[in-house]
Amino acid sequence: MSNQSKPNLLDSHNRRLNYLRISITDRCNLNCMYCAPQQFIPKLRHKDILRYEEILRLVRIGVNLGITKIRVTGGEPLVRKGVYEFLQLLSEIDGISDLSLTTNGILLKENIDRIKSAGIKRINISLDTIYKKKYEKITGFDMFDQVWEGILLAKEAGFDPIKINAVVLTGINDDELTDLAKLSISHPFHIRFIEYMPIGNPRMNYCRHMLTPEIKQRISVLGDLIPVENNTYDGPSQRFKFKGAKGEIGFISPISRHFCDKCNRLRLTANGYLRSCLLSDNQEDLKGPIRKGCLDSDLVDIITRTAYHKPAHHNILLNEQSGVTDQMFSIGG
Ligand code: SAM
Repeated sequence: MSNQSKPNLLDSHNRRLNYLRISITDRCNLNCMYCAPQQFIPKLRHKDILRYEEILRLVRIGVNLGITKIRVTGGEPLVRKGVYEFLQLLSEIDGISDLSLTTNGILLKENIDRIKSAGIKRINISLDTIYKKKYEKITGFDMFDQVWEGILLAKEAGFDPIKINAVVLTGINDDELTDLAKLSISHPFHIRFIEYMPIGNPRMNYCRHMLTPEIKQRISVLGDLIPVENNTYDGPSQRFKFKGAKGEIGFISPISRHFCDKCNRLRLTANGYLRSCLLSDNQEDLKGPIRKGCLDSDLVDIITRTAYHKPAHHNILLNEQSGVTDQMFSIGG
């Protein structure tokens, strides 16, 4: 079936859902203060995680329903055994026009060639600070140098764009917003400032929001932020550039300027649930039916039903808990 003749996965608010984010593991090699939980939460058992062939089956069905964009995330996707072979198989599925990866970058250095030859063209790397000590404070590990080397290698290997995601936390990294922003001047990186979302029960209190207007104001001491037009792969990021800069600045503002009316995403969790909204615990089981031997048509029904019931918008207010009980690392950010 050509892309034109494929049905559109529409929700009841007439949004076309063509973007699937897949969390392939709930495990991570970091322990970020805003992501990892306060209480010990047992990791999923091996048998409770979707097998690669199950994910590939769901992706093929999704593509036939109109999914064209896939992002692989986690947990930390690069810690899962067999991930490079999986990425290769994913990239061979006809109909996916954009396949990307979100990683913390710890394993980039040794694996950049494998990621590239598996067919990944775009990488988002999480880096909330450019200071070694602070990196250790935020993530629990002294790994800044390793990640930075990985980022530079990704640049050399020709990944384009390289997006660097920084979650902005008052009292933690708000003193270095201009340092992070400067990276976009000297390197062709897209530095994206993300508003913290109150999800799950992380190891920090809820008073650490800093919203985009203030972030923007703080970094504007470096010069005027010149708007850059969004392209089809941009999603909700508002893009800007400093004059003469090699890279760009992006703002992702799920709280101050939520983008629900344009949200085109579905999320497949590591344990095989389909979620239509990051900020709602509503989800539908796909793994159970798959393992009971259901037909593809049953999965089509579940996927279209979940998509149809995607909430109109989230209800998170500043400094309130979201009521989302699942942690970010299990849903996949
Ligand atoms: N391990 C990978 C990584 O670090 O990029 C992928 C998973 S991580 C959950 C995906 C993204 O979610 C990261 O950029 C992370 O900074 C972001 N994230 C995690 N918790 C968040 C929160 N509470 N609010 C906003 N972003 C968050």
